[in-house]
Formats: sequence, C-alpha cells, structure tokens
Amino acid sequence: MDKNDGYMKALKCRECGREYPLTATHVCEFDFGPLEVAYDYDRIRRSLTPALIQSRPQNMWRYRELLPLAGDPTVGFKVGFTPLIKADRLAKRLGIRELWIKNDTVNYPTLSFKDRVVSVALSRARELGFTTVACASTGNLANSVAANAAAAGLRAYVFIPSDLEQGKIVNSLIYGAQVIAIKGHYDEVNRLCAEIAGKFGWAFVNVNMRPYYAEGSKSMGYEIMEQLEWRIPRHTVVCMASGSLLTKIHKSYQEFTKLGLVTETPYKIYGAQATGCSPISSAQKAGLDFFKPVKPNTIAKSLAIGTPADGFYALRTMKQTGGVADDVTDDEIREGIKLLAECEGIFAETAGGVTVGVAKKLIASGKIPADDSAVLCITGNGLKTLDAVVGHAGQPREIKPSLREFETLLATENLSPVNA
Ligand SMILES: *Cc1c(COP(=O)(O)O)cnc(C)c1O
Ligand SMILES: [Zn+2]
Repeated sequence: MDKNDGYMKALKCRECGREYPLTATHVCEFDFGPLEVAYDYDRIRRSLTPALIQSRPQNMWRYRELLPLAGDPTVGFKVGFTPLIKADRLAKRLGIRELWIKNDTVNYPTLSFKDRVVSVALSRARELGFTTVACASTGNLANSVAANAAAAGLRAYVFIPSDLEQGKIVNSLIYGAQVIAIKGHYDEVNRLCAEIAGKFGWAFVNVNMRPYYAEGSKSMGYEIMEQLEWRIPRHTVVCMASGSLLTKIHKSYQEFTKLGLVTETPYKIYGAQATGCSPISSAQKAGLDFFKPVKPNTIAKSLAIGTPADGFYALRTMKQTGGVADDVTDDEIREGIKLLAECEGIFAETAGGVTVGVAKKLIASGKIPADDSAVLCITGNGLKTLDAVVGHAGQPREIKPSLREFETLLATENLSPVNA
C-alpha cells in the first residue's frame, strides 16, 4: 500500500472484488459493478478511539480516518455534526416511546446532507488535480457543489432538471456556478452527464468521483452513534433517492462495530420514498430483489430518481437488517412537514416530509414497535421547497394596526395556535 493514500487501500468492485487504483473512476471494467473505497481497517483500529474522536472539532472530519482522502480536507471544514434532537412531542404524536431527529436541515453551508458528500468529493478532486467540478443533481447537490466550489475557487458546472423549485435553482445560480437546466427528468440529466464526464476532464462528483463522494454519507451515521453515546439505534428511517445514503448509514454502523467503537447490537434500516417515485419501496413491498424503473411525478423533487443507482444495494441492505420500505403521497408529505414543524420547530423540505410520513406509517402498522426507539434522518431544509407548501400552510390574519381590531378578531374567531 502506498502511504500517500492515507488509510485507503484501493477502489474495489462490489460485484467481483477486483481492485483498481485510487483514481477518478467508478465502474469495473469486467462486470460494470460499482467501485467502492476499501480501507486498511487494521491500521484505523490501532489509531481511532472514542477519546481521539471527541478531542477533535465538532464537524464530520472528526472521523477522517474513515473518509476517502489521502491528506487533510481542503473543502468543507465546518460540515456536519448537526444536532440529534430528542423529539418527545413528535414521538407522542406518532405513538412511539422514544424518537430522535438527525437534523441536517441546518447542515453547513447549504442546509442539506449533500454538504457531507460534496466536501469529500471536492477535497478528493483537488487531491487528484482537478480544477473543474460538476454534478447531475435533483437540486441539493447542485446547491452544495456550487457553494463549496465557490469557496474553494473551483470552476463548477451543475446539471439539473429544468422543473426544479425556484429555491433550488436560485441557490445554485447565486454562487456563480454554470447552471445547465435540462428539459427532462433527473434520469435523463444523469445519462447526459455520463456522456459529458467521458468527454471532458472534469471531476463529476456523482459520476467518476462517485466512490469517494458516496463515502461522505457515512458521516451522518457516525454522528448518530456518537450522539447516542456510542450506540447503534435500534431503528433508523432514511429517505431514498439513489438509495446511496441508506446503504452508507448501514456501512457506518458496520464499520463502528468492526472497529470496536460501538458494541454489536441488532438494528433495522427502513427506506422512505414518495409514492410518485417509489421504484425501491415498491420492489421491497413486492418482495423483489430488483426495482423496475419509473417516471417520477411527486412534489419530493429531491428524491425524484426513477432509476436509482444504488437501488439494488438499498434493497439488499433492508433485507439484511430486517428493515422494510414504504412510501407516502404528496398530501402525506405535506402533512409530515407540518407535523415535524408543529411538534419540534424544524422546517424540513419535502424529503423530510417523506421520512416523517413513512415513519408514521411504520409505527402505526407495528413494523417499528411502539415501545421502541427510532432515529429519523431529516436531510434538507424547507426554505428551499416553499413551492410545495405555499397555499397549504394557512394564511396570516390581516388587520389594521388597531387594538380594537385585534380584540374583535380574537373574540369572533378561534385564534388559538395549533401547537398549544
Ligand atoms: C439527495 C438527497 C437524499 C437522498 O440521497 P441518495 O443518497 O441519493 O438516496 C435525501 N434527501 C435529500 C434532501 C437529498 O437532497
Ligand atoms: Zn467487477
């Protein structure tokens, strides 16, 4: 092993196990299997202890031995270590003994879990000598690539479906990135990007850089375990687009167990999708190992991937851990957003509404037992998807600046706040 590769050993095919050098590449030449970063866990075990982790600054790089960089990060120093909130009021509403919210609506700097994957991908892109970065995105990834590239002085091209929410589009443009809107679904954007990546020498964070990029998601799982005082949660609910985050949370739990940072305990991981784009949850519910591609039609645009790259592995992860998947309609997504906001004061985007809505169903059906404890991964901020809730959150009462008018209003209408 080259010591210049940090704790990484190689890129390894998930299907045949063939090893590849640690370059910007993502598929096996023999079977087209996805490549994944392999680490030297023996060396990591000798150096990484809870005490060492706790002595470091509160960001995702406190687990840096388990993240795929050769040296120190150069992008996204402040990303991660978002709050894990004990959600007692929401627990009561959903009918479960104990509930935790992993709150990535306040991740730095672009208010979604994508800042985790992007800081890894861009730091690695710099190590490999790239000066231009790019991505195919359902919105949040574009925002994070644009912002982090701006701060790092990298050139950025972001490719998005043209029908995204205004909040997501403006949040990419403002940083000066080249924003290319494609008239088509994400899956068509992604296909085009695979062609562009083959032709231009750019670091496409979720194409040729995908093995490194995807590892960044593990930090969400590491933080959950540390914040639960070095325990694996019994039940974890994760929303799925490509399905990558769900598989990486599983990997994080396995790695901490293997390294002796937590004791081995059984756990289940559950996947959440929108009914309008539910290739993975539909396959899981039908007991299939493979999904059927779909055409997305949902307000949860950040999750609208009809051909999920990690769908197969997400299905396998749920099967291995004993978890299941479910999906919710657009109305149930809005209801989930309101529930979380009214109970916990957290305004999540549509993807968060999906997670809360599915958790509600899983608890109601007893699939997550009522006397147990669960963690919900809330991955993005509601201020970016206002389009989805405008007209569904009620209207302000408008009066003249007069005490009498206010008193009349109080007397004639029921004005008690819903969360009292
Ligand atoms: C991208 C995204 C996800 C899921 O990502 P995958 O790893 O592709 O499954 C979840 N929530 C939000 C808000 C996202 O932007
Ligand atoms: Zn292979």
